[in-house]
Amino acid sequence: MPVYDYACACGVRFETMVPSWSSPAPGCPSCGELTRRRPPSPAVHGRAAPPAAMSTAPQSWEGLNNGDRDTITHWRRRMDARQEFESRHPEHAEHRDAIAAHEGAFERRPLTYKELAARAATSKDAGTAAAEASRARSGAGTTTTGAGD
Ligand SMILES: [Zn+2]
Repeated sequence: MPVYDYACACGVRFETMVPSWSSPAPGCPSCGELTRRRPPSPAVHGRAAPPAAMSTAPQSWEGLNNGDRDTITHWRRRMDARQEFESRHPEHAEHRDAIAAHEGAFERRPLTYKELAARAATSKDAGTAAAEASRARSGAGTTTTGAGD
C-alpha cells in the first residue's frame, strides 16, 4: 500500500498509508475535516531546471579565469549539483569522454582516454598507442573534418 502526504486546511500535515492512489483522502486527525493529498516531494518532481550539464564547464585553465578561486568554486559547486542530479536521474547522465590530451597533434581533435585505451588494446602499450593516435591525426591527410571547419 502506498504512503501519501496529506494536508488539512487547518494546517495539519501528515502521512498515511492508503489502499491506492484513488482512495479517498482521510479525515484530518485534528479537526476531522476532509484533507487533500499533497503533491509528491520536490526531490522527485520539482526543480524548474536540472543543474548545468558537465559539458558546459570550462575545460581549460583560461576558461577558469586562470585558476581564479571563486570561478573554480562556482563551477565545482555546479558540477557537484549536476553529479548529484545525474546519480538520481541516470537517464540524464551525459556520455562524455575524459580528455587525455588536447595539445599538439590533438589540438583539433582531442585524444580521449577511450581512444587511448582502444589503441592500447592492439598495441599493448599506452605510449605506442598515443604515438599511433598522434600519427593518425597528422598522417596522410586523410582525416576529414566537418565541412564548416
Ligand atoms: Zn484539520
